[in-house]
Amino acid sequence: MTTRRKKIYEGKAKILYEGPEPGTLIQYFKDDATAFNAQKKAVLEGKGVINNRISEYIMTRLNSIGVQNHFIRRLNLREQLIKEVEIIPLEVVCRNVAAGSLSQRFGLPEGQPLPRSIIEFYYKDDKLGDPLVSEEHITAFNWASTQEIDDMLAMTLRVNDFLTGLFGAVGITLVDFKIEYGRVWENDYARVLLADEISPDSCRLWDSATNEKLDKDRFRRDLGGVIESYTEVARRLGIMKEMPRVIEGGAA
Ligand code: UDP
Repeated sequence: MTTRRKKIYEGKAKILYEGPEPGTLIQYFKDDATAFNAQKKAVLEGKGVINNRISEYIMTRLNSIGVQNHFIRRLNLREQLIKEVEIIPLEVVCRNVAAGSLSQRFGLPEGQPLPRSIIEFYYKDDKLGDPLVSEEHITAFNWASTQEIDDMLAMTLRVNDFLTGLFGAVGITLVDFKIEYGRVWENDYARVLLADEISPDSCRLWDSATNEKLDKDRFRRDLGGVIESYTEVARRLGIMKEMPRVIEGGAA
């Protein structure tokens, strides 16, 4: 189905193909799961379909509140049409509750609420293991300008506020998430857009009542039931109706 298209880039969980018109790309969601810098790998059947749908839903909702992003429209079960952007080589992480690398770095128990939301930047480089960087590094090495950093900080806080409410309303705690940004050029002026994806692969989502993990930590930590959890997130968001039966069958 996608073999005739020119592949622009293949990452760990997604492939980018050239789009139907200039300035567009097709983002294909694979079933591949990786963790720990791709040292751990698996194929989780149906993951790509669920993440395509969840990311579509979240990007569409974000667009409706004015958080500009690359999403144009979903094309089919695994593909969406997106705007081509120049990816800013940073992973922007926003945290509300201690978990993962923050807990390790500062010796904080997982699940401890943070005094306020914390935003961190990591330099996107698998060979280096995506190191934590400061704004000094970002501007000195020209990864982004001070204006772009300000835009990313402001947009990330808006995404966090919106997603906290969206998930909170369906009994899910947004512990943390990772997003990426890109720039689009309009003459000599660059605008920052939210890009990549927002899905249980890139968020920590805990059931608010039980703290059960409904995200990629189920894969990272061998907890099992990965697809069932992702499906549960989609179901609670009210976007399960269009899910194929094979995936619905995985839900509890
Ligand atoms: N994250 C991600 N991709 C990465 C690293 C982190 O999507 O390459 C997400 C991760 O799922 C979590 C948040 O960013 O929701 C914070 O991750 P953390 O820094 O705690 O790293 P981890 O413990 O996952 O290695």
